[in-house]
Amino acid sequence: MLRLPPFRYAAPATANDAARLLADHGPDAMAVAGGTDLYPNMKRRQFTPRVLVGLRGLAEAYGIQANGALSLGAMATLTEVADHPVVRGRWPAIARAASLVSSPPLRNAGTIGGNLCVDTRCNYYNQTEFWRAAIGYCMKKDGHVCLVAPGSDVCWALSSSDTAPVMIALGADSPGLPLAYLERAIGALEGEDVDAVIGPADDGGYYLLGLRVCPRGALREIAWSTLRTRADTRASLDRHGLRVQEIDAFFDVDEIADLELLSAMLDRGEARAPKTARALAELRGAR
Ligand SMILES: Cc1cc2nc3c(=O)[nH]c(=O)nc-3n(C[C@H](O)[C@H](O)[C@H](O)COP(=O)(O)OP(=O)(O)OC[C@H]3O[C@@H](n4cnc5c(N)ncnc54)[C@H](O)[C@@H]3O)c2cc1C
Ligand code: SF4
Repeated sequence: MLRLPPFRYAAPATANDAARLLADHGPDAMAVAGGTDLYPNMKRRQFTPRVLVGLRGLAEAYGIQANGALSLGAMATLTEVADHPVVRGRWPAIARAASLVSSPPLRNAGTIGGNLCVDTRCNYYNQTEFWRAAIGYCMKKDGHVCLVAPGSDVCWALSSSDTAPVMIALGADSPGLPLAYLERAIGALEGEDVDAVIGPADDGGYYLLGLRVCPRGALREIAWSTLRTRADTRASLDRHGLRVQEIDAFFDVDEIADLELLSAMLDRGEARAPKTARALAELRGAR
């Protein structure tokens, strides 16, 4: 039987208290929501936090509001997300992704917050301590090489969450982005002298960030969703010694004026986004 390592359980009642506990204990502490992933990982010694900050007492982290915009409390269970009638009707991809996670008992206990923050893994890592010791571990924990790609200096386990890709896709706010821009980015990254490509968006952010390598910490301390996002990212990548190339600027759709611009480009055939064009035509027809 695998046993949990010793730890102290803290049960804050507010998000502020939880954040303070996590900040005070730094790397010695971890948050736990449903525990469906964290506890097995602790039993396998992938994590050995000395303090667990339980999120169950945070009343503000529960609930689903779906009136116009969708707001999912981090502690909403995957079952609640999958079964919510409005989420199923208006955001079916999110409901479906949540419904695909593992099995009913896990979805009843596992939360959407935990699913979005779930630790990445591959088959070499998702094993007991004993198993991992037998193959000499990997660089994600206790070892030095990536067993999937031994020549690599980064871990290639990128995402193990069913809902994260849907959230990212729904947030994709540059419909009509010319394929040539993506090809240009890939071409640059395939060359010898570029480590990172930024596709600037005219709102201070970017519609694309392509990295050949991502040094630890390179995407920390960036003022996300602000006018400084691109400048901060560029400065951080420069600081980490990456050779950055910026490609053509494009726009994303945040405001009505952006939508009108996109709509006009679609009508003139200057952008291709057939589903968006159909949806806009339906909206116009409904007015
Ligand atoms: C047998 C098995 C099968 C699984 N199958 C799938 C699957 O098919 N698809 C899939 O996507 N996942 C799967 N998982 C992973 C996991 O169970 C789910 O992703 C689940 O949604 C995690 O939610 P949780 O609330 O239990 O998270 P926890 O286990 O409590 O936490 C997971 C991680 O997220 C962090 N965390 C949790 N909540 C927050 C928060 N609010 N803010 C910041 N950090 C937070 C924790 O510190 C921890 O690092 C599986 C796990 C197991 C053990
Ligand atoms: S370092 Fe390699 S072997 Fe280890 S988890 Fe990442 S991808 Fe898997």
